[in-house]
Amino acid sequence: MTRSVTILGATGSVGRSTLDLIERNRDRFEIVALTARKDIDGLVELARRFRPRTAVIGDETHHARLREALEGTGVDARVGEQAIADAAAAGADWTMAAIVGTAGLKPVMRALEAGGTVALANKESLVSAGDLMTTAAAANGATLLPVDSEHNAVFQCFDAARPGSIRRVILTASGGPFRCRSREEMRAVTPAEAVAHPNWSMGAKISIDSATLMNKGLELIEAYHLFPVEADALEVVIHPQSVIHSLVEYVDGSVLAQLGAPDMRIPIAHTLAWPERMETPCARLDLVRIGKLDFEEPDLDRFPALGLAMQALVAGGAKPAILNAANEIAVASFLESRLAFLDIASVVGEVLSRYAPGGPSSIDEVLEIDREARDVAAEVTGKFRI
Ligand code: NDP
Ligand code: MG
Repeated sequence: MTRSVTILGATGSVGRSTLDLIERNRDRFEIVALTARKDIDGLVELARRFRPRTAVIGDETHHARLREALEGTGVDARVGEQAIADAAAAGADWTMAAIVGTAGLKPVMRALEAGGTVALANKESLVSAGDLMTTAAAANGATLLPVDSEHNAVFQCFDAARPGSIRRVILTASGGPFRCRSREEMRAVTPAEAVAHPNWSMGAKISIDSATLMNKGLELIEAYHLFPVEADALEVVIHPQSVIHSLVEYVDGSVLAQLGAPDMRIPIAHTLAWPERMETPCARLDLVRIGKLDFEEPDLDRFPALGLAMQALVAGGAKPAILNAANEIAVASFLESRLAFLDIASVVGEVLSRYAPGGPSSIDEVLEIDREARDVAAEVTGKFRI
């Protein structure tokens, strides 16, 4: 039986890893839609190769080029934000949500409202609007499957029928490229150094988040929404080898973990085949070659972004959305060499401390909070500008 799939953010790191798996199992999948924002060449190449029903480019200036390039292929060329949201709701059995940032929120909501299976990589949407998303999933009978490697690991170990038997969920973190650097040594790091993750190959934004440990903070909030656990049952441990992807501790002292090579195609394949399993070309785990696994406590003094995210999780309301929006602005400024690495967390901290609007009760309210936090973050970033 073939499964119809849509990939939001097809030209990105997660999108391409998903398509790699689909290409190896071409007869099992039919592609409904592929979307991108501005990588027109990438999208055209993917559309020609995979022949989706629809290809959507977000950036309006590329419409004519997309249309021309796909003429005669039978692929419908669409453009604009609304068309991306429509593609998300086009009724695929399975949708990969791999747009980066809050930009993914509306499309994810549309996919959830359409009631299929949503494989979620876009953690920022869950951080900003977790309650609204999980409520929408339940109300529409949609299935939300975690793609993020840690959450996919927890999902595989978590006895959802007996949440009361679980004592702790432990997310592992590689520690990123600056795990062993002092604050002083981190002061002058460049975007190129920060993007070079030791274990995982990922898009630029999440690579910076991994270097500040904000990624792990966002993941704590993500885990809080995905699994029925209290915030104080969530922990982080640094594990530089990225072999154990996360752990679940039960009340009897048993600890279950999921292990594997650090290759996103493994968790993606888990969600693509779920509840079955599929083969992947990923390296097999060779424990003898790895030899030993290390663990450390996260250092909140050197990596204050993680502490800020923990505070936002406990505070709840609008704080996680503000944290996420401020971080998106600060990371974009750092990538453009307009902000120093250590000031990413300083900007987020200052924006969080400035104001505290009430919690959002609709997606429009989330987007309003997001917009306001971006404005405040842009102003604060100006003060720290290099
Ligand atoms: P990339 O930057 O590699 O790709 C992002 C994708 O989203 C691209 O297709 C991009 O299009 C599209 N996109 C970006 N902005 C917009 C927008 N405003 N509107 C519509 N589409 C947009 O990111 P990753 O693949 O690394 O990450 C995607 C998501 O998955 C993130 O939320 C990340 O946190 C999460 N994730 C990623 C992991 C990884 O290994 N990479 C691991 C775990 C989670 P274009 O190419 O045209 O710019
Ligand atoms: Mg992760």
